[in-house]
Amino acid sequence: MKLTDKKLTLRGYLSLAFLIFSVVLIIIMWLFQSVFFDAFYRTVKTVQVEKCADSIVHNIEEADLKSIIKEIEEQNDMDISVYSVSPFMGSTILTPVYAPHEFMSTHSLINMSSVQEYYQKAKSNGGKVTEKTENDLPFSQDKPNKLSPLLEKETSQLLTCAVITDSTEPSYFVIVESDIAPVASTVETLRIQLIIMTGVILLISIFIAIVTSHYVSKPIHDTTKKAKLLAQQNYDLTFSGGNYKELCELNDTLTFSAHELQKVDELRRELISNISHDLRTPLTMITGYSEVMRDIPGENSPENIQIIIDEANRLSQLVNDLLDVSKLESGAIAMENKTLCLTDCIKDIFKRYTKLTEQEGYSIEFNYAEDAYVYADPLRISQVLYNLINNAVNYAGQDKTVIVNQTVKGAMVYVEVIDHGIGITRENLPYIWDRYYKVDKEHKQAVVGTGLGLSIVKNILNQYSAEYGVKSAVGQGSTFWFAMKIVEKPKE
Ligand code: ADP
Repeated sequence: MKLTDKKLTLRGYLSLAFLIFSVVLIIIMWLFQSVFFDAFYRTVKTVQVEKCADSIVHNIEEADLKSIIKEIEEQNDMDISVYSVSPFMGSTILTPVYAPHEFMSTHSLINMSSVQEYYQKAKSNGGKVTEKTENDLPFSQDKPNKLSPLLEKETSQLLTCAVITDSTEPSYFVIVESDIAPVASTVETLRIQLIIMTGVILLISIFIAIVTSHYVSKPIHDTTKKAKLLAQQNYDLTFSGGNYKELCELNDTLTFSAHELQKVDELRRELISNISHDLRTPLTMITGYSEVMRDIPGENSPENIQIIIDEANRLSQLVNDLLDVSKLESGAIAMENKTLCLTDCIKDIFKRYTKLTEQEGYSIEFNYAEDAYVYADPLRISQVLYNLINNAVNYAGQDKTVIVNQTVKGAMVYVEVIDHGIGITRENLPYIWDRYYKVDKEHKQAVVGTGLGLSIVKNILNQYSAEYGVKSAVGQGSTFWFAMKIVEKPKE
């Protein structure tokens, strides 16, 4: 069983997430509407009653106190009474200043004795007391309950807040009363509502989950299908679709990868055909000449032996280049860096071309003003120079001229290798540094090359973070260049 078989699909995840979200939401609603509802309601009511009492105390000496009290009563559905407090022979006389129901609230039994009682309680409690008492009168006798008709048979509670003012002379005593409606039936109503809501929310969330997951997962499914084709080496693919940014980016990346893979695959095919051609030609020559020398007396000449040696050298050059590229690319080559004279390096390479200049009329120039030193592996730098100069010689034009310029600019030394040959087309320029890339796909024996030279150059120069490039125009020639940091000449 594959690991992916055990995993949930995106659709599954999304549906599960929606379901969990809905369940959590419903639980929170249940808690607030049923379990905490009563406590919450009572707390809100208590705060409201105390606030009203404080507001009256605050306005106690206002001329329009009565209208303020009336407004508070109407707005908050409360009963308010205010008494002036005067001491008399060791006891306290409470004279009504404002009492809407003449000492007796319609749904409470506050009479003068209970006023006295509240006064004593408030006094012993630091001037303020808030209390809940059972309201014995049936709730419906007073006012019909607005919340639910079911409540009509239930008895309500009465919340009373009593405050004695201390900043006035004489002082006043304020009583604010409010009904606490019984919540049991309300909770029952909410519970029925919640059961219906739970069903509706679950249905809606399942519907949204299905629609969303289809919207999200369908394009991913399409992309996966195409990616499987890519794995089967179908490179001519364009990944598209997806209504959201992440998937669009993934599709663009996959399309880009498909094109890159196609290029690599083409290069690989070319490599196999080039390498097999390159290997077969010298091998045929070596076998052919050896057989001739074995079978025909007198053919055992130094010239024939030289041909065999040359072809064997070509073979080993090819194999070495291949090894170099793979080692350089994998970073397996350890550079033996030291301070070296780049100018001498170039001169050394030039010595290899003496025969070519003397016998075949090539002109190879080296222009420089001063010796330049760099910190690098001499073997690798020689490889860079040799590959560039060798290419210039191989692709030199009618004038058979190759020019190498070494110039020092600031802290850098620039080396240019110039030829006046066929040049490189603009389309081919970006690819010539790639492995096995040959502009001339028809492999011509006249131009000896493995298609690896510039790739080796690129890899070595990259190791030294050197700059490099090429300028070329078809029919006019090419200028390959690189620049490295100069170091000081070592002390003798
Ligand atoms: P090769 O061994 O085939 O020369 P390189 O990697 O050195 O491989 O070069 C890659 C390709 O770049 C060559 O096949 C050739 O087409 C092109 N090229 C390189 N140098 C020159 C040059 N000086 N003039 C024209 N084309 C060049």
